[in-house]
Amino acid sequence: MTAKATIGIDIGGTSVRAAVIGNDQQIRASVRDLTPHTERETEDLLVTLITKLAATQQVSAVGLAIAGFLSRDQQKVMFAPHLAWRDADVPQRISGRVNLPVVMDHDVNSAAWAEYQHGASAGASIALLIALGTGIGAGLIIDGQIYRGAYGVAPELGHLTVVPNGRPCPCGKRGCWERYCSGTALAETARGLMGTGDAPILRQLSGDDPSAVTGTMVAIAATEGDPAALAAMDELGHWLATGLALVTDVLDPEVIVVGGGVASAAGMFLPLAVSEFSGLITGAGHRPVPRIELARFGDRAGIIGAALLAAGT
Ligand SMILES: [Zn+2]
Repeated sequence: MTAKATIGIDIGGTSVRAAVIGNDQQIRASVRDLTPHTERETEDLLVTLITKLAATQQVSAVGLAIAGFLSRDQQKVMFAPHLAWRDADVPQRISGRVNLPVVMDHDVNSAAWAEYQHGASAGASIALLIALGTGIGAGLIIDGQIYRGAYGVAPELGHLTVVPNGRPCPCGKRGCWERYCSGTALAETARGLMGTGDAPILRQLSGDDPSAVTGTMVAIAATEGDPAALAAMDELGHWLATGLALVTDVLDPEVIVVGGGVASAAGMFLPLAVSEFSGLITGAGHRPVPRIELARFGDRAGIIGAALLAAGT
């Protein structure tokens, strides 16, 4: 008998995206809405979206992908900076209202699971996902298990210090990896280069206002050959290689998957990162080099991974 489809839901700070995912990892139906500001409203919205999707076809379970700190057994949202829940047993609350089993995991863990099950790191013994977005999200699969650490908060790789006394980070430290290697960092680097360098397209896109520069603008300007934007992409590639080399010395991964929104511009920085990386790892030239791959599922990875976790695969 073929297993039924499941629902995957990615709950972000801005929007909630939900979809029915079939056995082939394809989206069969999808809905989305803005993320509400209270616990009750967020739960009401989840129930509404699940009910809508479950009316289109038979589904057997629901998986939630959440950006936040979860209890180690994934039964509670302890804290999520952009969501209303605090110490909340979300899966139980939702399950009781929709009469379906509900599982929950961290959004980057869900994405890493999707890539490990059917994507760029399929079957790897140690599979790492680095998601480059506003910051750096990391998900690690070791021998087919999601690695969570002793208290459920690992791996926070984005806050490894790469530059002592470097750029300040909202986490309270300075010089964290994600301050140099993320969409936010890309914009900050480009702003600095705009002040001193040749940046005709960046100036045009931003109305000659460095504070208006976004990561997306840098990506567009780099595609059009803007020298400052290209230099910012090179810096991003350099810091990606530097951080991945640190992480590789600890984990010795088989495959590192690079995903997240910034990965859509990977053509501008990934080749440089890959070539620098192989020379930065300990024992360079005398050891196997982990493969660095581009994520297969893009921004659907969280939803697909949550649906796979709900299906028990
Ligand atoms: Zn930090």
